[in-house]
Amino acid sequence: MTLFQPKASHFVDGAYIEDTAGTAFDCVYPATGEVIAKFHSATPSIIDAALNSAQRAQKQWAALMPVERGRVLRRAADFIRDRNRELSELETMDTGKALQETLVADATSGADALEYFGGIVSGMTGETVPLGEDFAYTIREPLGVCVGIGAWNYPTQIACWKAAPALACGNAMVFKPSETTPLCALKIAEIFIEAGAPAGLFNVVQGLGDVGAALSTDPRVDKVSLTGSVPTGRKVYAAAAEGLRHVTMELGGKSPLLVFEDADIEDAISGAMLGNFYSTGQVCSNGTRVFVHNSIKEQFLSRLKTRTEAIRVGDPLNEDTHLGPLVSKAQLEKVTRYIEIAKSEGATLVTGGDAPRVNGHEAGFFIAPTVFADVTDDMTIAREEIFGPVMAVLGFDTEVEALTRANATEFGLSAGVFTKDISRAHRVAKAFEAGTCWINTYNLAPVEVPFGGSKQSGVGRENSKAALDYYSQIKSVYVGMGRVDSPY
Ligand code: NAD
Repeated sequence: MTLFQPKASHFVDGAYIEDTAGTAFDCVYPATGEVIAKFHSATPSIIDAALNSAQRAQKQWAALMPVERGRVLRRAADFIRDRNRELSELETMDTGKALQETLVADATSGADALEYFGGIVSGMTGETVPLGEDFAYTIREPLGVCVGIGAWNYPTQIACWKAAPALACGNAMVFKPSETTPLCALKIAEIFIEAGAPAGLFNVVQGLGDVGAALSTDPRVDKVSLTGSVPTGRKVYAAAAEGLRHVTMELGGKSPLLVFEDADIEDAISGAMLGNFYSTGQVCSNGTRVFVHNSIKEQFLSRLKTRTEAIRVGDPLNEDTHLGPLVSKAQLEKVTRYIEIAKSEGATLVTGGDAPRVNGHEAGFFIAPTVFADVTDDMTIAREEIFGPVMAVLGFDTEVEALTRANATEFGLSAGVFTKDISRAHRVAKAFEAGTCWINTYNLAPVEVPFGGSKQSGVGRENSKAALDYYSQIKSVYVGMGRVDSPY
């Protein structure tokens, strides 16, 4: 435990601070069930200190030249890359995700976001609007203090994806990690200070939902950006609306993946496996409803079964391991419950469904990658977000039918299609009711491309130039050049 215990629970105004009056909670290593660090939830005085220091830092930070702000962000990106192994191991301890993955997907994508927004911020300009003799110009201004609230599946990436555009635009941030994964964001806060950010620009306060709720309603807060489930999103959106605060909501999904009869079947299986098993299935954009054309379904399922059974589940710190445990005991119980429901509702278990024994990790929260066939649209596993490595395979006959069924969900985060017919690929992508679509690949989310949900899956976009719109506001200045024309 000594290895992972931070100096204190919170990082506020450039330093670690503690208030032992806050409710105590533990950080558990999902592969063994051991407590690896202990925390206290933020008390009102910690929240107060964080918001006050963010307000102070924001004014100083926004007064810098954009290129100076960008330099700090890019320096932070370099530090993150230099320490990738250390940060990846920490991500694995926090989440249980396999180190094979975290080495390439977490700190690195956080660094990408800081590098990208650190680079483009200098090009963020207003416009001039000619109006005859008169003219107007616009200025992009920061919002002020932004609150970031994270989910537990990508603690480093979520902290960076929110901080990078927020800070680039001249805002400060108070970030509350998920109580399940409190470790990683503290390291990002340390790195910002090392990179030259003013104390208070990026604060981390720990706690459960009540701390997130206190932050979302505080009058000092101008924006709330949440990554979490739809029910939490509804609450946070409503709380932010009280103060007419800006929001970004990155919420859940039940995304469809359509595999047509002309698809490259091995690629389609790779896409389906990546889109269901990566991060032990705990990815918001996962394509958990895999619609396969009935003419190739048996072939698809047979190869999928063989390839899924070759996945190595085990010690996540062993770099040969493909799949680590789920993030928590509660998540293991939830996923196990969905597997039982699927069986009782008549889905056919193709493979998995049980908890594999991992030597030396008997108390870990492991679950085998699981595939169900003969799933119908009304079954619970075809409607609800499971957030575990459980793939539902459904058959279809026509494009229109597949699209109608794919879109028949309250969610609209992502969707994918595998086909060699280019017209169909673009027609299907256009028809999907989803924020992000993939053609002949799945789940790639580079920082250059907007990411976010439609329908109940969210509001706003992260990554790309689009994110700047959600962390800045436009001021219009009208300049009168002649006499004032007044009838009075
Ligand atoms: P969650 O909704 O339970 O919690 C998310 C965060 O909100 C946590 O930090 C939690 O403490 C906080 N919170 C809870 N109640 C709150 C309240 N009333 N006010 C303010 N904050 C509150 O989600 P989770 O279980 O941590 O994460 C899994 C969910 O996140 C899944 O639904 C997944 O799809 C979603 N997710 C979405 C994206 C995306 O980009 N769209 C990315 C990752 C995860």
